[in-house]
Amino acid sequence: MKIFTIFLAFLLFLCTSAYSQIIDVHMHCYTEEDYYGGTPHPYGGIESPANAEDHLQETLQYMDKHDIEFAVISGSMESVEKWAKADPRFIPGFADEKKLPDIEKFEEMVKNGKIKVFGEIMAVYLGRTLNDPIYEPYLAICEEYGIPVAYHTGGGPPMTPYMKCCPDFRISLGDPLLIEDVLVKYPDLKLYLMHAGEVFFEHGVRMMSLYRHLYVDIAVLLWVDPIVQDYAVRFLKLARQAGVLDRVMYGSDQMVWPGAITRSIEFLDSMDFLTEEEKRMILYDNAKRFLEIESSADLIGE
Ligand SMILES: [Zn+2]
Repeated sequence: MKIFTIFLAFLLFLCTSAYSQIIDVHMHCYTEEDYYGGTPHPYGGIESPANAEDHLQETLQYMDKHDIEFAVISGSMESVEKWAKADPRFIPGFADEKKLPDIEKFEEMVKNGKIKVFGEIMAVYLGRTLNDPIYEPYLAICEEYGIPVAYHTGGGPPMTPYMKCCPDFRISLGDPLLIEDVLVKYPDLKLYLMHAGEVFFEHGVRMMSLYRHLYVDIAVLLWVDPIVQDYAVRFLKLARQAGVLDRVMYGSDQMVWPGAITRSIEFLDSMDFLTEEEKRMILYDNAKRFLEIESSADLIGE
Protein backbone atom coordinates (compact mmCIF):
# COMPACT_ATOMS: atom_id res chain seq x y z
CA MET A 1 0.00 0.00 0.00
CA LYS A 2 2.79 2.36 0.99
CA ILE A 3 4.67 1.63 -2.23
CA PHE A 4 1.49 2.31 -4.19
CA THR A 5 1.15 5.70 -2.45
CA ILE A 6 4.76 6.57 -3.25
CA PHE A 7 4.19 5.52 -6.85
CA LEU A 8 1.10 7.75 -7.05
CA ALA A 9 3.02 10.67 -5.55
CA PHE A 10 5.79 10.11 -8.11
CA LEU A 11 3.24 10.07 -10.93
CA LEU A 12 1.73 13.29 -9.63
CA PHE A 13 5.22 14.82 -9.46
CA LEU A 14 5.83 13.85 -13.09
CA CYS A 15 2.52 15.37 -14.15
CA THR A 16 3.04 18.64 -12.35
CA SER A 17 6.73 18.92 -13.20
CA ALA A 18 6.05 18.64 -16.93
CA TYR A 19 5.36 22.37 -17.07
CA SER A 20 7.00 23.40 -13.86
CA GLN A 21 8.91 26.02 -15.81
CA ILE A 22 8.13 27.85 -19.00
CA ILE A 23 10.01 30.29 -21.22
CA ASP A 24 7.81 32.53 -23.38
CA VAL A 25 9.80 33.78 -26.37
CA HIS A 26 7.07 36.00 -27.79
CA MET A 27 5.39 38.81 -25.85
CA HIS A 28 4.56 42.43 -26.60
CA CYS A 29 4.80 45.40 -24.26
CA TYR A 30 3.21 48.84 -24.37
CA THR A 31 3.15 52.34 -22.97
CA GLU A 32 -0.15 54.12 -22.29
CA GLU A 33 0.39 55.91 -25.64
CA ASP A 34 0.57 52.85 -27.88
CA TYR A 35 -1.66 50.45 -25.89
CA TYR A 36 -4.69 49.34 -27.90
CA GLY A 37 -6.43 46.97 -25.47
CA GLY A 38 -9.66 47.20 -23.53
CA THR A 39 -11.77 45.00 -25.81
CA PRO A 40 -12.17 41.22 -25.45
CA HIS A 41 -10.54 39.16 -28.19
CA PRO A 42 -13.11 38.25 -30.90
CA TYR A 43 -12.20 34.55 -30.73
CA GLY A 44 -13.04 33.03 -27.38
CA GLY A 45 -13.68 36.36 -25.64
CA ILE A 46 -10.39 36.62 -23.76
CA GLU A 47 -10.55 39.80 -21.67
CA SER A 48 -8.19 42.70 -22.26
CA PRO A 49 -7.13 45.05 -19.42
CA ALA A 50 -8.29 48.66 -19.70
CA ASN A 51 -4.87 50.29 -19.75
CA ALA A 52 -1.15 49.54 -20.20
CA GLU A 53 -0.33 49.49 -16.48
CA ASP A 54 -3.10 46.94 -15.74
CA HIS A 55 -1.90 44.93 -18.74
CA LEU A 56 1.61 44.75 -17.31
CA GLN A 57 0.31 43.75 -13.85
CA GLU A 58 -2.00 41.09 -15.28
CA THR A 59 0.81 39.71 -17.44
CA LEU A 60 2.97 39.35 -14.32
CA GLN A 61 0.14 37.51 -12.56
CA TYR A 62 -0.15 35.02 -15.41
CA MET A 63 3.64 34.60 -15.42
CA ASP A 64 3.51 33.74 -11.71
CA LYS A 65 0.57 31.38 -12.24
CA HIS A 66 2.34 29.41 -14.97
CA ASP A 67 5.85 29.73 -13.55
CA ILE A 68 7.17 31.56 -16.60
CA GLU A 69 10.86 31.95 -15.87
CA PHE A 70 11.63 34.37 -18.72
CA ALA A 71 9.71 36.17 -21.46
CA VAL A 72 11.12 37.90 -24.52
CA ILE A 73 9.31 41.22 -24.94
CA SER A 74 9.18 43.63 -27.85
CA GLY A 75 7.68 47.05 -28.36
CA SER A 76 8.85 50.65 -28.44
CA MET A 77 12.18 51.25 -26.66
CA GLU A 78 10.28 53.14 -23.96
CA SER A 79 7.87 50.26 -23.26
CA VAL A 80 10.68 47.69 -23.31
CA GLU A 81 12.69 49.71 -20.78
CA LYS A 82 9.63 50.12 -18.57
CA TRP A 83 8.86 46.39 -18.50
CA ALA A 84 12.50 45.33 -18.11
CA LYS A 85 12.72 47.61 -15.08
CA ALA A 86 9.43 46.25 -13.67
CA ASP A 87 10.56 42.60 -13.58
CA PRO A 88 13.90 40.86 -14.21
CA ARG A 89 12.16 38.00 -16.02
CA PHE A 90 11.66 40.17 -19.10
CA ILE A 91 14.28 39.84 -21.84
CA PRO A 92 14.37 43.06 -23.86
CA GLY A 93 13.73 42.74 -27.60
CA PHE A 94 13.83 45.50 -30.16
CA ALA A 95 10.93 45.76 -32.64
CA ASP A 96 11.81 47.32 -35.99
CA GLU A 97 10.08 50.34 -37.48
CA LYS A 98 10.00 51.70 -41.00
CA LYS A 99 13.13 53.70 -40.25
CA LEU A 100 15.73 51.73 -38.33
CA PRO A 101 17.90 53.40 -35.66
CA ASP A 102 21.33 54.74 -36.30
CA ILE A 103 23.65 51.72 -36.56
CA GLU A 104 26.14 53.03 -33.95
CA LYS A 105 23.27 53.54 -31.53
CA PHE A 106 22.03 50.02 -32.21
CA GLU A 107 25.47 48.54 -31.54
CA GLU A 108 25.72 50.55 -28.33
CA MET A 109 22.34 49.23 -27.15
CA VAL A 110 23.48 45.67 -27.90
CA LYS A 111 26.74 46.21 -26.02
CA ASN A 112 25.10 47.68 -22.92
CA GLY A 113 22.44 44.95 -22.76
CA LYS A 114 19.47 47.15 -23.71
CA ILE A 115 18.80 44.87 -26.67
CA LYS A 116 19.10 41.13 -26.10
CA VAL A 117 16.89 40.04 -28.99
CA PHE A 118 16.40 41.80 -32.35
CA GLY A 119 12.68 41.47 -32.96
CA GLU A 120 9.89 41.08 -33.42
CA ILE A 121 10.98 42.06 -36.93
CA MET A 122 7.71 43.23 -38.51
CA ALA A 123 9.14 43.55 -42.03
CA VAL A 124 6.12 41.81 -43.58
CA TYR A 125 3.87 44.60 -42.27
CA LEU A 126 6.15 47.16 -43.88
CA GLY A 127 6.14 45.53 -47.32
CA ARG A 128 9.58 43.91 -47.07
CA THR A 129 11.33 40.78 -45.76
CA LEU A 130 14.40 40.20 -43.59
CA ASN A 131 16.27 39.78 -46.87
CA ASP A 132 15.87 43.50 -47.58
CA PRO A 133 19.32 45.22 -47.67
CA ILE A 134 18.11 47.67 -45.00
CA TYR A 135 18.62 44.93 -42.37
CA GLU A 136 22.15 43.92 -43.44
CA PRO A 137 24.25 46.03 -41.01
CA TYR A 138 21.95 45.07 -38.11
CA LEU A 139 22.16 41.37 -38.91
CA ALA A 140 25.96 41.63 -39.08
CA ILE A 141 25.98 43.08 -35.54
CA CYS A 142 23.54 40.43 -34.27
CA GLU A 143 25.75 37.71 -35.74
CA GLU A 144 28.88 39.22 -34.19
CA TYR A 145 27.40 39.60 -30.69
CA GLY A 146 25.25 36.45 -30.72
CA ILE A 147 21.97 38.40 -30.51
CA PRO A 148 19.00 36.21 -31.55
CA VAL A 149 16.84 37.60 -34.36
CA ALA A 150 13.06 37.08 -34.03
CA TYR A 151 11.36 37.34 -37.41
CA HIS A 152 7.58 37.48 -38.04
CA THR A 153 6.45 34.92 -40.63
CA GLY A 154 3.00 34.20 -42.08
CA GLY A 155 -0.05 36.45 -42.17
CA GLY A 156 -1.69 39.01 -39.91
CA PRO A 157 -5.12 40.04 -38.61
CA PRO A 158 -8.10 40.45 -40.97
CA MET A 159 -8.01 43.46 -43.33
CA THR A 160 -4.41 44.36 -42.41
CA PRO A 161 -3.48 46.04 -45.75
CA TYR A 162 -6.46 48.38 -45.36
CA MET A 163 -5.29 49.59 -41.95
CA LYS A 164 -3.51 52.93 -41.75
CA CYS A 165 -0.35 51.27 -40.44
CA CYS A 166 0.18 48.69 -43.10
CA PRO A 167 -0.82 49.41 -46.70
CA ASP A 168 2.26 47.48 -47.89
CA PHE A 169 1.51 44.31 -45.88
CA ARG A 170 1.20 41.14 -47.97
CA ILE A 171 0.72 37.57 -46.69
CA SER A 172 3.01 36.31 -49.46
CA LEU A 173 5.95 38.22 -47.92
CA GLY A 174 5.60 36.04 -44.82
CA ASP A 175 6.91 32.94 -46.57
CA PRO A 176 10.05 31.70 -44.74
CA LEU A 177 11.62 30.60 -48.04
CA LEU A 178 12.03 34.28 -48.95
CA ILE A 179 14.71 34.75 -46.29
CA GLU A 180 16.87 31.78 -47.22
CA ASP A 181 19.62 34.13 -48.45
CA VAL A 182 19.89 35.58 -44.92
CA LEU A 183 20.73 32.14 -43.53
CA VAL A 184 23.34 31.61 -46.22
CA LYS A 185 24.90 35.04 -45.86
CA TYR A 186 25.04 34.95 -42.03
CA PRO A 187 25.75 31.31 -41.17
CA ASP A 188 26.36 32.05 -37.48
CA LEU A 189 23.22 34.15 -37.02
CA LYS A 190 20.81 32.89 -34.34
CA LEU A 191 17.39 33.21 -35.94
CA TYR A 192 13.87 32.11 -35.06
CA LEU A 193 10.81 32.22 -37.26
CA MET A 194 7.93 33.59 -35.24
CA HIS A 195 4.65 31.76 -35.95
CA ALA A 196 6.64 28.91 -37.59
CA GLY A 197 5.66 30.10 -41.07
CA GLU A 198 1.89 30.08 -40.22
CA VAL A 199 0.14 29.37 -43.54
CA PHE A 200 3.59 28.44 -44.89
CA PHE A 201 4.22 25.97 -42.05
CA GLU A 202 5.42 23.27 -44.45
CA HIS A 203 8.08 25.69 -45.66
CA GLY A 204 8.97 26.32 -42.04
CA VAL A 205 9.57 22.62 -41.37
CA ARG A 206 11.55 22.21 -44.60
CA MET A 207 13.75 25.18 -43.74
CA MET A 208 14.37 23.67 -40.29
CA SER A 209 15.26 20.30 -41.77
CA LEU A 210 17.76 21.92 -44.13
CA TYR A 211 19.14 24.61 -41.81
CA ARG A 212 19.83 22.64 -38.66
CA HIS A 213 20.34 25.75 -36.50
CA LEU A 214 17.05 27.44 -37.37
CA TYR A 215 14.48 27.69 -34.55
CA VAL A 216 10.78 28.68 -34.58
CA ASP A 217 8.08 29.72 -32.12
CA ILE A 218 4.45 28.66 -32.43
CA ALA A 219 3.12 31.77 -30.71
CA VAL A 220 -0.27 32.95 -31.88
CA LEU A 221 -0.95 29.67 -33.70
CA LEU A 222 -1.91 28.22 -30.32
CA TRP A 223 -4.92 30.45 -29.72
CA VAL A 224 -5.85 33.28 -32.05
CA ASP A 225 -8.40 31.57 -34.32
CA PRO A 226 -9.39 28.09 -35.52
CA ILE A 227 -7.53 28.37 -38.85
CA VAL A 228 -4.14 28.98 -37.28
CA GLN A 229 -4.80 26.43 -34.51
CA ASP A 230 -5.17 23.90 -37.31
CA TYR A 231 -1.78 25.06 -38.68
CA ALA A 232 -0.31 24.57 -35.20
CA VAL A 233 -1.46 20.95 -35.05
CA ARG A 234 -0.32 20.14 -38.58
CA PHE A 235 2.97 21.98 -38.10
CA LEU A 236 3.77 20.09 -34.89
CA LYS A 237 2.87 16.71 -36.43
CA LEU A 238 5.11 17.42 -39.42
CA ALA A 239 7.91 18.83 -37.24
CA ARG A 240 7.74 15.66 -35.15
CA GLN A 241 7.92 13.47 -38.24
CA ALA A 242 10.85 15.53 -39.56
CA GLY A 243 12.69 15.23 -36.23
CA VAL A 244 12.94 18.99 -35.66
CA LEU A 245 10.79 19.36 -32.52
CA ASP A 246 13.95 20.12 -30.56
CA ARG A 247 13.96 23.57 -32.20
CA VAL A 248 10.32 24.52 -31.64
CA MET A 249 9.69 27.04 -28.85
CA TYR A 250 6.62 28.23 -26.96
CA GLY A 251 5.51 31.84 -27.22
CA SER A 252 2.17 33.21 -26.10
CA ASP A 253 2.08 36.28 -28.37
CA GLN A 254 -0.69 37.39 -26.02
CA MET A 255 -0.51 40.98 -27.32
CA VAL A 256 -3.17 42.82 -25.21
CA TRP A 257 -4.89 39.63 -23.96
CA PRO A 258 -2.82 38.14 -21.08
CA GLY A 259 -5.38 35.32 -20.69
CA ALA A 260 -4.05 33.95 -23.98
CA ILE A 261 -1.10 32.62 -21.96
CA THR A 262 -3.38 30.10 -20.23
CA ARG A 263 -5.35 29.43 -23.41
CA SER A 264 -2.21 28.67 -25.45
CA ILE A 265 -0.64 26.42 -22.80
CA GLU A 266 -3.89 24.46 -22.49
CA PHE A 267 -4.14 24.04 -26.27
CA LEU A 268 -0.58 22.72 -26.48
CA ASP A 269 -1.28 20.41 -23.55
CA SER A 270 -4.35 19.02 -25.32
CA MET A 271 -2.26 17.63 -28.19
CA ASP A 272 -2.22 13.92 -27.44
CA PHE A 273 0.20 13.10 -30.24
CA LEU A 274 2.98 14.85 -28.32
CA THR A 275 4.67 13.14 -25.39
CA GLU A 276 5.09 14.93 -22.06
CA GLU A 277 8.80 15.20 -22.79
CA GLU A 278 8.16 16.82 -26.17
CA LYS A 279 5.80 19.34 -24.57
CA ARG A 280 8.44 20.16 -21.99
CA MET A 281 11.02 20.68 -24.76
CA ILE A 282 8.68 23.14 -26.49
CA LEU A 283 7.67 24.96 -23.32
CA TYR A 284 11.13 25.23 -21.80
CA ASP A 285 14.19 23.20 -22.83
CA ASN A 286 14.51 24.41 -26.43
CA ALA A 287 14.29 28.09 -25.51
CA LYS A 288 16.73 27.63 -22.65
CA ARG A 289 19.29 26.21 -25.07
CA PHE A 290 18.57 28.75 -27.84
CA LEU A 291 18.76 31.78 -25.55
CA GLU A 292 21.82 30.25 -23.82
CA ILE A 293 20.33 30.54 -20.36
CA GLU A 294 22.59 28.73 -17.91
CA SER A 295 20.79 29.90 -14.82
CA SER A 296 18.43 32.70 -13.84
CA ALA A 297 21.35 34.82 -12.68
CA ASP A 298 22.95 34.45 -16.10
CA LEU A 299 20.59 36.73 -17.98
CA ILE A 300 19.67 39.13 -15.28
CA GLY A 301 23.03 39.46 -13.58
CA GLU A 302 24.49 42.14 -15.81
ZN1 LIG B 1 4.04 39.00 -32.13
